[in-house]
Order: sequence, then structure tokens, then C-alpha cells
Amino acid sequence: MKEINQMINEASSRNMIVPGFNIFGHEEALAVVKAAERAATPVLLMVNRSARQAMAIKHWGALFSSIVKMAEVPIGVHLDHCTDLDLIQEAIESGFTSVMYDGSKLSLDENIRNSRFVVKYAASRDVAVEGEVGSVPYDDLGEKLGDFTTPEEAKRLVEESGLDWLAVSVGNIHRLTDRKSTIDFQALQAIENATKVPLVIHGASGIRDEDMEQLKKSKVAKVNIGTALRQVFGQSLRREMLASPEVFDRITLLKNPMNLYEEKAYALICQLKE
Ligand SMILES: [Zn+2]
Repeated sequence: MKEINQMINEASSRNMIVPGFNIFGHEEALAVVKAAERAATPVLLMVNRSARQAMAIKHWGALFSSIVKMAEVPIGVHLDHCTDLDLIQEAIESGFTSVMYDGSKLSLDENIRNSRFVVKYAASRDVAVEGEVGSVPYDDLGEKLGDFTTPEEAKRLVEESGLDWLAVSVGNIHRLTDRKSTIDFQALQAIENATKVPLVIHGASGIRDEDMEQLKKSKVAKVNIGTALRQVFGQSLRREMLASPEVFDRITLLKNPMNLYEEKAYALICQLKE
């Protein structure tokens, strides 16, 4: 098992969570790595669907693998939400250290079958697999809460597929621009009692500080963070461009925004540390 995946497994029984950040360019990757090194804590660089539409998976794999190889702390390269089995194999061949197979929209039997296929392929290459049952809604698509993960489904998916980590729906919501989701800790506890694997919470940008503190003590070992950093990126770059209308150089324009981005990543990492 790769060191970063081992650390995520350990986080499930410790008072900490390993953050996974959705990254959309090399500047952000470098900023997150610097923040993780300053905090002396492991993190994951994650590639989501829109990043994959912007650039091919093999390029992300090559770029991020070479960046994390130089890091002073264990950093993983994670494929977020993927339903395409060929693409998952390509990601594993391109250096990703963990992948998420998202079969949550399928029947449970089909989800189990495909997750098991991915686990078998990934395990021989030392790559961890995250699965999901139940569904975490997307706020920007107007989706509502409802399809929570049940302990019975979680138990079957984990035991019959052999996956390493399980993403759950317990009140968390994707892409919230403010922290207004409410975690149902009773539902989470029921899943913890029914399964043995580390749990994953998506939509962490929308989670309040007090809920996050409680999640650190639970079996949640990884959270996915996208929106909180994307907001800093957009807002700080816009301010920079309005303040310096004569500047046209990419590297110059991104300098201050990337410093702010690194500070935000650092704050989020520190909040999740032990
Ligand atoms: Zn997600």
C-alpha cells in the first residue's frame, strides 16, 4: 500500500482527516503542495470531471506525479468521480495513487460488480479505490437531499466489492458556496457500525466548523474540497485584474492570487490536522 493511502487508512481512527483538493492547473497544485509541506501533513491532489474535460487524464497524471514526487510530505494523486472503467485504468497507468469508481447511479448489484472489477485491477498496482452508494446532491444543479447512504447498502458494497474507502451521503452537499449543510451524525454512526473501511465526505466546502470537528473524531478519513478554493481563485484573480488593468502576463497576474490560494489551502489543512 502506498504511504499516502496508508495515512488515509490511519486517519480513520485518528482525530484528523486528509483533505483532497480539486485542482485545475499546475499553479494550484504547487500552492497546495507548499501549504501541505508547511503544515507537515498529507493531502490529495484530485482531478474531477471538468478538469478531465479541460485536459487528458494522462497529462494530469504525468504532471501531478512529477510534482508530488518532489514533495516533502506524502501527497496522493486521486481521480474523483469516475464512471468510465477504461478511464480509470488509464489513470492508474498514468500514476494516480487512488481512484473513485462512482457507481452510485447504478443498481446496487451493478455498482458492486463494477467496483469489484476496479478493486481487482487497482490492487495489483497498489492503488486504493473509493466507492459510493447513496447520492450526494449538487447544489449548482438544483438537486435536493434525499438519497442518503443506508447502512445495509454500505455494508453490501464494501464487503462484496472489497473497496478501500466509501463515500457517503449523510447531509453533505456538493458545491455549496456557503457553509449551510447539516451532517446527520446518527446516519453516519449507523454506517460506521455496519462497515469497516474509512469513510469519505464530499462537499466539505459546505460543512460548518463544529461539524468538521466532530467528523475528525469519526471514521471519516478523507474529505473532498473544491468550491472553497475555487472561490478564492476566482475572487482574488478578478481583484488582481481590476487593480492592474495594464498587466497581461499570466505569471505576474497569478502571483498574488496564488499566495492567497495557498493561505486558504493552509488554513483548511490545519483545520483538519490532528
Ligand atoms: Zn463528489
